[in-house]
Amino acid sequence: MKPEYKIETKCVQSGYSPKNGEPRVLPIYQSTTYKYDTGTAMAKLFDLEPGYMYTRLANPTNDAVAAKIASLEGGVAAVLTASGQSANFFALINILGAGDHIVSSATIYGGTFNLLNVTMRKIGIDVTFVDPRADEATLNAAFRPNTKAVFGETIANPSLDVLDIEKFARVAHAHGVPLIVDNTFPTPVNCRPFEFGADIVTHSTTKYMDGHACALGGAVVDSGNFDWEQNDKFPGLTTPDESYHGAVYTRDFGKAGYITKIVAQLLRDYGSTPSPQNSFYLNLGLETLALRVERHCQNAQRVAEFLEQDERISWVNYPGLKSSPDRALVEKYLPHGTCGVISFGVKGGREAAEKFMNRLELAAIVTHVADTRTCVLHPASTTHRQLSDKELEECGVTPDMIRFSVGIENVEDILADIEQALASL
Ligand SMILES: *Cc1c(COP(=O)(O)O)cnc(C)c1O
Repeated sequence: MKPEYKIETKCVQSGYSPKNGEPRVLPIYQSTTYKYDTGTAMAKLFDLEPGYMYTRLANPTNDAVAAKIASLEGGVAAVLTASGQSANFFALINILGAGDHIVSSATIYGGTFNLLNVTMRKIGIDVTFVDPRADEATLNAAFRPNTKAVFGETIANPSLDVLDIEKFARVAHAHGVPLIVDNTFPTPVNCRPFEFGADIVTHSTTKYMDGHACALGGAVVDSGNFDWEQNDKFPGLTTPDESYHGAVYTRDFGKAGYITKIVAQLLRDYGSTPSPQNSFYLNLGLETLALRVERHCQNAQRVAEFLEQDERISWVNYPGLKSSPDRALVEKYLPHGTCGVISFGVKGGREAAEKFMNRLELAAIVTHVADTRTCVLHPASTTHRQLSDKELEECGVTPDMIRFSVGIENVEDILADIEQALASL
């Protein structure tokens, strides 16, 4: 694949290039293991020489799809994980340990908020949540000597706040640590955070990338730009790994060091590896990603504009609206489109919100976003149920918030469904 190919071409073609007479479509290597002629040939793999030994670490189907996602983001290497949750956990734990600290945007996905706020604290990793709109002085004040990473979401789920990637990259780099950005909502079709200084990108491929709500998955992509050796904050990458006879990831694998460590250590020990069958589905989804994202955004724009002028609606938040508080950030980071997810409140608060959702016919109530079918969810009582009122406010979730994920059906049908549900209130 030529690196200069456009994103639509990469969606279809990157990651797998069959040689003469080989299958045109990426095969599913439905095998946990690999056969070798001699014990010596296999032993070399345990010294991290290239090759396949066991699917928990690597599988050709998974690798091809990871390479496609790396190509879409403009990164040097990527690894697939079993879910978006494991992608974010691995992206962080790969460079953090007990006693370390993270600076994170407060407006992030509820699952990631819990991971940072509860589970990672239990293993001795502290976090400071910051308002993504805070100025640089305030962000700088959140850092400590033991801060090892900065985290945020390009478009936050479900607050839809847009991250000022360059601002976050600047403060992270000023403290010698990388910026990790969860790029699930815009996908690389609408934003490639590496172009604005992010160092690592993560995905819940479960959302638009698969796009059909059929396979859970995640990905971690490395830009190859962060210099892990500039300070002594990342000994896991820059000093010998005793579990691999003293391999030093940055020395031995260069720009692939960070991803190699996830594969060799974290997939080995935690085992959150996707099944090759799921990676095959993910690849099918990726082939149409650019087409689908464009339609999701077109439809969402129409729905958001309809809601905004309707007097039965109390507020609408969609980064594509002219009235969005993030208008300037959208023009800079997301000029071609944002995402298909809208949040809004119905007049009458929480009760009206629940009634409205129950009356929808085409849009289904499901715990999901970002697939072909229009769906709807009440975050405060579901995805964010475990959070206190104060935490809800910090995450940008109000009690009356409806999260509406606009699908790729005909937009007139989606609008008619919303109209009949509102009319019945
Ligand atoms: C859904 C989601 C996740 C978690 O992904 P899973 O695949 O459900 O584990 C992480 N980040 C964002 C932004 C998400 O929307």
